[in-house]
Amino acid sequence: MYTPAMSLKILDTCVNCDVCEPVCPNKAISLGEEYYVIDPSLCTECVGHHDEPQCVVVCPVECIIVDPAHAESHGELELKYQHLMAKEPKA
Ligand code: SF4
Ligand code: SF4
Repeated sequence: MYTPAMSLKILDTCVNCDVCEPVCPNKAISLGEEYYVIDPSLCTECVGHHDEPQCVVVCPVECIIVDPAHAESHGELELKYQHLMAKEPKA
């Protein structure tokens, strides 16, 4: 089973194929200066939404890895998810 522990980052081997951006439930992925980037303040490793990081599932070149610079426990990712949800405008 996949155990989330950190937010993720995109390596420079990204081919800018655009498929990861729309699958991110937290809108954490955007096009950076040269390739796609993940905002660590928004990435919960999909905790709260999916069992697996959806960007990793769809990336055709496997260029998305856990980011050791942003180590977070599952509990911290859960808390981040709850904070993000609290900020969502109510429908
Ligand atoms: S792991 Fe999930 S929340 Fe994080 S960037 Fe990928 S799709 Fe978005
Ligand atoms: S799916 Fe992978 S290769 Fe495609 S834009 Fe996202 S990070 Fe880059």
